[in-house]
Amino acid sequence: MRIDIITIFPDYFAPLELSLIGKARAAGILDIRLHDLRSWTRDRHNTVDDTPYGGGPGMVMKPEPWGEALDAVAGGAGAPPRLVLPTPSGTPFTQERAKRLSDEPWLVFACGRYEGIDARVVADAERRMPVEELSIGDYVLAGGESATLVIVETVSRLLPGVLGNAESAVQDSFAAGAMEHLLEGPVYTKPAHWRDQEVPPVLLSGDHGAVDRWRRHEALRKTARNRPELLRELAARRLDELERSD
Ligand code: SAM
Repeated sequence: MRIDIITIFPDYFAPLELSLIGKARAAGILDIRLHDLRSWTRDRHNTVDDTPYGGGPGMVMKPEPWGEALDAVAGGAGAPPRLVLPTPSGTPFTQERAKRLSDEPWLVFACGRYEGIDARVVADAERRMPVEELSIGDYVLAGGESATLVIVETVSRLLPGVLGNAESAVQDSFAAGAMEHLLEGPVYTKPAHWRDQEVPPVLLSGDHGAVDRWRRHEALRKTARNRPELLRELAARRLDELERSD
């Protein structure tokens, strides 16, 4: 997968050299390219922002550098990339959305700052490429860089060959299939006894069926405790499946 990231802070992405993503890049699974938005400015101060029309606090990112940057990075012959704009006003970024993005061959991320990017940039990009405005949560960050890191890491670990054991993504919280709408329950490793605490005996039993049932039960329990609304979504989906199979 190719990923281009346009930002005024390319150094923010140093963590993409590390760990799973660093290894995936070295293995040629991921081709990540960073671009400094300021290289598409034309004034001597490399200005990327200006005051908002209509008044109000803060600054807005100017359309011209963004337009030129997207033309240069995402233009050209061949199929266009999917443009991702992290924004608190976007649709929620979920594991399901991450799975769909992981099937794309090429993603471009546009990292906003200040009060965001002039709205004409999205409208203009939409004429040439699919665009997704995504929010990583109901809170406001200082910029799109950390949101981009979250999305890139989530998508990358779903690419074939990135995780040492592909099974682990299947068993994760929110994973499509058995874990959809569920949180993963507690996990344990050696030693079996630690500070007066025992690992649940079923995990030492060697009975795989019993282990699966215990994990399912614990996943339901944790979801009920921490995210009860997910269980309502699970119930609604099951009902829908039942009604469609009638
Ligand atoms: N004025 C904007 C609003 O109220 O929707 C907030 C702008 S925020 C200070 C600056 C940038 O941070 C945004 O353009 C976006 O790129 C990023 N950002 C902030 N919160 C985010 C979130 N929850 N999800 C994704 N990106 C976010």
